[in-house]
Amino acid sequence: MKSSKIEIFDTTLRDGMQGTGVHFTLKDKLDIALMLDDMGLDYIEGGFPLSNDVEAAFFERLKKHPFQNAKLCAFGSTRKPHSRADQDPNIRAVLEAETPAVTVVGKTWKDHVLQVLKTSLEENLEMIFDSVSYLTQQGREVIFDLEHFFDGYKDDPDYALQVLQTAYEAGARVLVPCDTNGGVLAEEVAEIYQKICALYPGKIGSHFHNDLNLGVANSLASVREGSIHVQGTINGWGERCGNANLCSIVPILRYKMGFSTNMDSHLKDLTLLSRFVSEKANIIPDRRQPFVGEAAFSHKAGQHADVLLKNKSLMEHMDPALVGNNSQVLLSGLAGKGTIALKMNKFGQFDKSSPVVAEITTILKDKEAQGYEYEAAEASFELLILKVLQKFRPLFDLDNYHLESFKTFDTQSKTVGRIFVTVDGRRYMGAGVGIGPVGVLDAALRNALEPVYPFLNEITLTDFSVRVLNAEESHSEAKVRVFITSSTEEQSWDTVGVSANIVEASWEALVDSFNYYYNFKIRDWEN
Ligand SMILES: [Zn+2]
Repeated sequence: MKSSKIEIFDTTLRDGMQGTGVHFTLKDKLDIALMLDDMGLDYIEGGFPLSNDVEAAFFERLKKHPFQNAKLCAFGSTRKPHSRADQDPNIRAVLEAETPAVTVVGKTWKDHVLQVLKTSLEENLEMIFDSVSYLTQQGREVIFDLEHFFDGYKDDPDYALQVLQTAYEAGARVLVPCDTNGGVLAEEVAEIYQKICALYPGKIGSHFHNDLNLGVANSLASVREGSIHVQGTINGWGERCGNANLCSIVPILRYKMGFSTNMDSHLKDLTLLSRFVSEKANIIPDRRQPFVGEAAFSHKAGQHADVLLKNKSLMEHMDPALVGNNSQVLLSGLAGKGTIALKMNKFGQFDKSSPVVAEITTILKDKEAQGYEYEAAEASFELLILKVLQKFRPLFDLDNYHLESFKTFDTQSKTVGRIFVTVDGRRYMGAGVGIGPVGVLDAALRNALEPVYPFLNEITLTDFSVRVLNAEESHSEAKVRVFITSSTEEQSWDTVGVSANIVEASWEALVDSFNYYYNFKIRDWEN
């Protein structure tokens, strides 16, 4: 009996938090949990209630405001050896979290029982039976995680199967073999799942890690053999190389394998979910992440873009809109007029033969020859188009800037700067002081402009990168290329500058950043 509907279990807030650089505050955890609930997840694992105050407060809060759709899950291990389940502090904490479902983790690998738990194989089975049956009697739905199942199974299949049988008899609703060390291959998964799904039809789930880059593949292999429940995390975050990535698993189940999940009707918000979780963790989203990454449906080079204009389905494995993403056409010197015409959609109707397109193509090629690159600096490219269309309005005219960096003995270097600009015929002066010239230039420019343009406050420079171009790339003397990422609460954009002088290259990218925000967000560029 293979189910066509698969349960999705999110462990971003528990296993996902073991990932490098993943930190959530209580508010982050609550915000993410609510979004996951909206997205149709079946289970949301909140963590281990005893581990710290944040976890305890999280469960406390959700007692008062339960989820609309998902079942909240508290996580804990089996009782300690030679004790009673009803008196075990860890099991009591899991019960006190008052969640409809609980995850109980138990040992499956003989060597771990003997060497880590330091108890007998029989006592481990007792611990599993007592813990699962006690929690079941207390009205909890028990999901039983079999820690190190695959290593244990390869070492001693009989014992691993005894663990499965014990948890089954004790009343666990789902039995979840875990690839805790993440070393199992997809063909091994298929073989083992064939056996265990035949033994426990409709009861087996999946929990894979990504150490072999197979977290997703293994989850899918297990579903193909009859797993009914898949555990994973948003963006595949988790310990070491991460957990199985739900942002890939769910759309593959739906669009490539013909299974259904309760997330199906929410998949058009999947990209949003992925970025929201990244935002909360303050982790820069992975551009190359399948389905939801910025580059997942981006196309380079003129020929491809031409085909894209004619028939998207020839160049993309699926419609990106189904997961809330979109196609992007990357610019490069290789870009033909077709690409440029496509890029200009937002500015009106232009086709390949339009003289404006020819003009922009020429400018682009010339700029790229100088060392500019617009693939990662779309905002600068859009300003370029605006200039050709004569719709561009500069924020200000520069009269002059002056920077001075100094260092005395071994003290830290310092930079001071001032700037004069003209806006509508009036002259404004700004000053700045700091360590590096770029920061000082930014400060002085804002200082001069903020009385006229208070909206500049909303912009922060979130990333700054410099690359030295060799003579071949810049077709002359050595130059640097600077990229600046700027953002407001709603959006971020990238600009580029190139010069033999790093301050000048930075200035160019900085001015583009402010001009982009002004032309596209503050004033209506069409008027
Ligand atoms: Zn895990």
